[in-house]
Formats: sequence, structure tokens, C-alpha cells
Amino acid sequence: MNTVVDTKLIQALDSAHFLHPFTDFKDLNDRGARVITKAEGVYVWDSEGKRMLDAMSGLWCVNVGYGRKELADAAYQQMMALPYYNSFFQTTNVPAVQLAAKLASLAPKVGDRSFKHVFYSSSGSESNDSNVRMVRRYWDLLGQPERKVIISRNNAYHGSTMAGASLGGMSGMHAQGDLPIPNITHIEQPYYFENGKPGETAEEFGVRAAGWLEEKILAVGVDKVAAFIAEPVQGAGGVIIPPSTYWPEIQRIVDKYGILLISDEVICAFGRLGHWFGYEKFGYKPDLVTFAKGITSGYIPLGGVMVGNRVAEVLIEKGGEFNHGYTYSGHPVACAVALANIEIMEREHLVEGVRGELGAYFAKRYAELNAHPLVGAAETCGFVGGLVLVKNKQTKERFKEEDAVGMVCRAHCFNNGLIMRAVGDRMIIAPPLVMTHADIDALMDLIHMALDKTL
Ligand code: PLP
Repeated sequence: MNTVVDTKLIQALDSAHFLHPFTDFKDLNDRGARVITKAEGVYVWDSEGKRMLDAMSGLWCVNVGYGRKELADAAYQQMMALPYYNSFFQTTNVPAVQLAAKLASLAPKVGDRSFKHVFYSSSGSESNDSNVRMVRRYWDLLGQPERKVIISRNNAYHGSTMAGASLGGMSGMHAQGDLPIPNITHIEQPYYFENGKPGETAEEFGVRAAGWLEEKILAVGVDKVAAFIAEPVQGAGGVIIPPSTYWPEIQRIVDKYGILLISDEVICAFGRLGHWFGYEKFGYKPDLVTFAKGITSGYIPLGGVMVGNRVAEVLIEKGGEFNHGYTYSGHPVACAVALANIEIMEREHLVEGVRGELGAYFAKRYAELNAHPLVGAAETCGFVGGLVLVKNKQTKERFKEEDAVGMVCRAHCFNNGLIMRAVGDRMIIAPPLVMTHADIDALMDLIHMALDKTL
């Protein structure tokens, strides 16, 4: 395929016609978007021929790397056999069924928290809307319709639809569109670097941070709380990795009050944390698991919810018709690509790699960033990494918002051929799971170079 383009022309058409997500539209008029034209392995190229190591896997999704012919073949073959059919009116299709069964087989079984059922959508946002619908239906069917409130966390990201953005805890998103919608409330995130008290260990902080959930449940009223939703590791919020004590304490609290636990694994599933599902890393037992992104490595949109037996049995046995779904729920082409993607991950032992020696090597090399004068703390969990940039390493004094230190660092990354994301004063990565040791070394050199230039 011809990837040579007239950059200026594409940029002019882009700013004239394409309203980009999460973008100040005027920025594109002034500077023009970087036009990405091709990709292979862990690298992408722009229209000027510049090669960049994609340490963000696109947007946390290209887990098996770029240029996988098998995924294109799976899409082509499925399109020729059956490009589309709905799953609304007692019809189904083979890839959607096979994928649901495959996901059920990959999910670990933990008592009444095992997973046999999948509800499909096309994105993480839609999946979280489905969660809201399912959770409320569940409590209605159990004769407790007043249990409507879903508790989430500040700085969480759960998508961009009305429900997704409301569940999320991004103040900038809430400020546009009169959000959150009713019956969604938030607690503080478990960010030790920011919220730990002097002298408090990370483990002590983890228990205290989980305790904010119990306080909120009691403040709202136990009989009004339907569910708690959280990402295993907060991704878009800046890779906020909870202390080891956080999730066990959250589990104790949700069990104590009988509320549902939703694990939003749009980023954390499919090997990102070294397991098929992110909750396995921390050993908790969710009732609903949101997935998207990595299930197809981003080659085609697909999302959904793994519905645990506790919820599924009520929906099936007591439910009648569930008045919710999408035209593309169980899209055959997307499901065929997902099956091929999972096959690649299994054959190449990518999940085991992140959990094993490769993941340990990545963690060790990333931890070396702690020695850099600009870095307040550098942490990894599986194949996500975050670091906070500080003005003063000794006192841990933070930069001011107007310093825009993350954006400065991000620009140096781009100029050096590295895609790393900035979230305020945090720099974050989520590299493809197919990174080699040499790729990790190259990545670390590029990060060091960008940090040196930011100093
Ligand atoms: N949930 C989490 C944890 C996410 O990270 C994202 C996207 O980054 C979403 C939900 C929304 O997914 P989508 O953009 O596919 O709607």
C-alpha cells in the first residue's frame, strides 16, 4: 500500500474537516496534526518518514505489535464468509460464540465469582454503559431498586459517553456536559506519592485509601449502594499503581456490604499486567469485568463485559428481556480478529513473558529512572510504567501546572523518536507486549535522553 502522502494537504483537510477527540481544535489549525502513515512491530512512521518507538501501543491497545498479517487474514476471511449479522433476535454467529467460550475459559474460576458469560459492545465506553444498565437491572430484579449508586474514584477513566465520563473521575470532563449523571459518586484515588502522609508506609496508605470506600458507603447509605468500579491500575489518570494492601481491603469492604465489584480492565486485561485479566495480578474477585482495546490489539473495535455468575444467574433466571444492546454486539469480524489475536498471544507466550523474565527485565531497567534528577518516583506493573517529574528531588517539590513539564518532556520524546504520554507532571508508557530486550534498552535510552533535555 502506498504510504507516501502530501503532508501539507492532509493536514489542511484534517483541520478543515476532522474534529479530533480530546483536542483543542485550534491547535490543529496552527500546527497541523502529525500524520501517521505506517507501522511495523513496535515502531510507527509519520508522513515525513520519521520513525518512532511506540511506547504507548497506540492508545494502550496494540498488544501484539503492528503488521500482523494473521489478523488481517482473519478479518478478510470472516468478511467474505459473513461480514455482519446481528445477535438481537435469537440469531448468533460462530466467532462471537467461540470468543465468548474462549474468554470464559481464560478467566480464573473463583467460587460464585467465576465467569461463563460475555456481553459484547464495540468499545470500553459502551461497555461501561452496559455495566450501569446491568448493575441496576440486577438490583431491581432482586427487589432492591433503591440500590442505584455506583461509587468510583477521582481521576479514574471509564470512557467518554455520558455514563462512562460520569463513572470516570476527570474533573475536566465533568465540567463539560453537566456530569456526573445522578447516582454516581467518587472517592479519592490511591496515589501514594500525592496523598501519603509523612511517615506513612505505602502499605499503611493502601489500607487508609481503601477505607475511603467504606466511609462513602456509610455516608451514602448501605442500602443505596449498587457497585464500586475501578481500574486495577489507573491508566489514563497517569498509571497510578495501588499499594499491595489496597485491593485486599477493597475486597473485604465490598464483601462486607454485599455490593458489586466492577473491574474496568480496558487497559489491564490481555497480558498488560502479566495475566489474561488484571484482577488476577492483585487477587481480587470482581463480579463484572470491562474489556476492549487489547482483545483485538486495536486492529478492529471490540469491547464487552465479562458477566460473573452472581450477576448472570439473576439476569437469566429472573430477568425476562434485557432491553439493552448494540447493533455491533458480537460483530463477527471483530470477534474473528479477537480469536486470532488471542491465538497469537498464546502461541508466543506473550502473557507469560510479561509475568516472567521479560517483565522483570523491563521493571529493572525502568526502576533505574529513579536515579534521574527529574524523577520523583518511577514504577511499573507488568507492562505499564509511570513516573512523576519533580522540581526538587530531595524535597519532592512538584512543578506548577503552568510549567507544563509533561508536555515539554513529551515534545523531547517525539523529537527523539519516542512516543510517551504526558498526564500533568507524570510521564507514562504501555509498550507492546512483543518488546524484545533490545527494544527495552532502546526505550530506556530514549527516555533518558528526553529527561536530560527536559532538565
Ligand atoms: N475504561 C478504561 C479503563 C479506559 O482506559 C478506556 C479508554 O482508554 C475506556 C474505559 C474507554 O474505552 P473506549 O475509548 O474504547 O471507549
